[in-house]
Amino acid sequence: MSEPLKTRLATDLIHAGRIRTDLEENAEALFLTSGFTYESADMAEAVFANQIEHFQYSRFANPTVTMLEQKLAKIEGAEACRATATGMAAVHAAVMCGLKAGSRVVASRALFGSCHWIVSTLLPQYGMESVFVDGGDMDAWQAALSQPTALVLLESPSNPMLDIVDLRAVCDLAHAAGAIVVVDNVFATPLLQKPLELGADVVVYSATKHMDGQGRVLGGAVLGTKQWIEDVFQPFFRNTGPSLSPFNAWVILKGLETLHLRVKAQSESAERIAQFLDGQPKVKRALYPTLASFAQRELAMRQMSGGGTLVTFELHGGKEEAFRMLNAFQIITVSNNLGDTKSLATHPATTTHMRIGAEERAKLGITDGTIRLSVGLEDVEDLLEDLTQAFAKV
Ligand SMILES: *Cc1c(COP(=O)(O)O)cnc(C)c1O
Repeated sequence: MSEPLKTRLATDLIHAGRIRTDLEENAEALFLTSGFTYESADMAEAVFANQIEHFQYSRFANPTVTMLEQKLAKIEGAEACRATATGMAAVHAAVMCGLKAGSRVVASRALFGSCHWIVSTLLPQYGMESVFVDGGDMDAWQAALSQPTALVLLESPSNPMLDIVDLRAVCDLAHAAGAIVVVDNVFATPLLQKPLELGADVVVYSATKHMDGQGRVLGGAVLGTKQWIEDVFQPFFRNTGPSLSPFNAWVILKGLETLHLRVKAQSESAERIAQFLDGQPKVKRALYPTLASFAQRELAMRQMSGGGTLVTFELHGGKEEAFRMLNAFQIITVSNNLGDTKSLATHPATTTHMRIGAEERAKLGITDGTIRLSVGLEDVEDLLEDLTQAFAKV
């Protein structure tokens, strides 16, 4: 047999990780089964003793879910992957599996709301120490990581202000402090940023966002070394049960086949919309990683290959103008999801970031005039016209 070809991203999104049965089906099979059977009691004994590799129970592993895990590992360049029921199940399990009472955790302040809750509220309930830093402040990272630390959790670009963390510099400081680094890479997607290449140990995703990409199912993923996944993550995962349903895995597998096309097209539209917003008189500031006016542009372009599908902007007129704008949209829909083919806009101060309180919002720079726009696959000219007519009503 000839050498297997070294394939590229678009090919891997279609073919990597496939398990084909003896029936030689073309599309991935949906194994909607909770359990698996054995030829004999002797075989069951051997399977449970790890002497024979065989699926046992879908909480541990399921062939449709395994196909998704193998595909994600290939496109991320990770040794191993486990898929989870939601993005939060991925973050929770990745953080908790290796920690114990007394562990110290350092996190960037600009985290997805529920990730922030895990660090600020849940960890201290189990006797762990939580420290938040401003993700863009290298002196703060240095100070926080000047003592032994178990884990660093960060998000870059962050939700919703698109703050960028210097991944390589923080990973170096974290490793010197004995910590593993977990990166929530949802905003960048596996296509635009490779945290493992920049020194991260674990990457987590909400597959609900760009991977499904069509607003249908929830899912998540955790990627890391084979050793960490098998020795640290798998016992927690197997015994606490945040497993992904095979049906949702199958939907996400279908979504991944077009991930590169969608993320590319949506990012191009997002960049055009950001440039349009940047010059609008009613806009106080527009945030997008590739904009000339973006403060962390140089760092963003060093570690990302594109700006992503999200644009955040702030209106001069606070909540009143933001609500008038949101209510005037004809194509863009008011929704707090993101990464969808449909363009979605949200007012973070009263939705996704309502619970963190005004003081924490102020620290993150989330004002009452801030709108987060997840740019979809519609014709960008229609989206620009929708924004233009909405500005006229502000
Ligand atoms: C959506 C999201 C999550 C949580 O994912 P779910 O699938 O909703 O549980 C975590 N982090 C980021 C950055 C997200 O956008």
